Amino acid sequence: MRRITFLVYAALWILLISLNLYQQVKDTNQYAQKIATQQAETLFDQIVLTRNWNASHGSVYVPITEKTQPNSYLEVPNRDVITTDGLRLTMMNPGYMTRQLAEMSAQKTGVVFHLTGFNPIRPDNRPDLWESKALLAFQKGQKNISEIGAIEGRSYYRFMAPLQVEESCLACHAQHGYKVGDIRGGVSVGIPSAGIDVFVDERRKHMMVTHSIVALIGLIVLLLSYLAQARLSKRLDKAKSRLQLAYLDSLTLLPNRRYYDAFVKREWKRALRHQYPISMIMIDIDFFKLYNDNLGHIEGDHCLRQVARTLKRFFRRPGDLIARYGGEEFCVVAACDAEQIMALAEILRKAVESMQLPHPASKISPYVTISLGVAAIVPKDDQAFESLLNCADQALYQAKATGRNKVVQYQE
Ligand code: GH3
Ligand code: MG
Ligand code: MG
Repeated sequence: MRRITFLVYAALWILLISLNLYQQVKDTNQYAQKIATQQAETLFDQIVLTRNWNASHGSVYVPITEKTQPNSYLEVPNRDVITTDGLRLTMMNPGYMTRQLAEMSAQKTGVVFHLTGFNPIRPDNRPDLWESKALLAFQKGQKNISEIGAIEGRSYYRFMAPLQVEESCLACHAQHGYKVGDIRGGVSVGIPSAGIDVFVDERRKHMMVTHSIVALIGLIVLLLSYLAQARLSKRLDKAKSRLQLAYLDSLTLLPNRRYYDAFVKREWKRALRHQYPISMIMIDIDFFKLYNDNLGHIEGDHCLRQVARTLKRFFRRPGDLIARYGGEEFCVVAACDAEQIMALAEILRKAVESMQLPHPASKISPYVTISLGVAAIVPKDDQAFESLLNCADQALYQAKATGRNKVVQYQE
């Protein structure tokens, strides 16, 4: 794994964890809202139940006290009565009862109720902006509404549902034109979000901690595997370069004789198995001792490198190989027949000659030249691979003996 890959993986991992955290926090908020809505709906049902109970009795009478004064908005006969033993009672209709329950609830639990409608008999029952919108939505058929909103600057989970006019309501409200099934108003319930927010915050903190731990563990695992892999590839690189050193000629950077021998053995076996020809060229620089003697060893090395570079250009196929065989000798092996190898050898000879590297001491040319001995064999079972080498060597000897700067093919 390269450093950039590691960084990309680490960034992706953090992104993944962050996305997960974001989704979970969002889910928690939605869940909290759902619970609050459920709670508000239950409270709403309780209020409606209590109101229905009250209405089913045609309202109830309660003693008049400092807190419970007669309801000035209630215009019915017998609103206030006195019992035979002088106790003063006043009628508590569902509306008045709801108001008193709302006051108690706001004081004791913080949960607020509000009985409201578009044309309330009591001015305090006028809807606020949110309630007005809800009432309009109910008229269009919406069953209920829930949202987070503010009441007098404090945040609440708000819920509101309509109140339907029932038979029992008509006793008092028939005079106001109410009909059974009308939606004349609703009750809004507000649950303070502070209590629920504490729970949500706690959960959010908990999720942040667990996600951070998971992210950190992931990063550590990633880092450890990156480091382990980096160490491994370092070792591999070292082994590779050691291997390269063992099989590479340091002067010309061509494969060395050790590599060449192993390669030829393998190719020989393959040619034997499939019975196709294997060919070899032995190459030797002409009068190289004189070159060294004349221009110096350093120039000699330079010449070897240049010749090697020129020869190397012709070997790109995986089955062909050129190596430095030793001294000023190079060796070629290729999976081709005699005709093809002879053509290749001639190309190599011409390539070196046309480099026109000056060779002042050569007895045959003003430039550096090479002699080439070629052999092509279809291997036989009882034949050793060295025989190919011997044949090419003998051909090279012939090339040297018959004038140099030429290609000679081995003839039996
Ligand atoms: P011929 O044309 O018959 O091949 O003659 P030659 O002089 O090329 O052959 P000989 O074998 O007599 O000499 C080979 C010379 O190659 C001897 C040595 O000084 C030189 N030589 C071998 N290896 C190196 C090398 O790595 N660097 C240099 N500069 N010279 C080398
Ligand atoms: Mg030689
Ligand atoms: Mg030579």
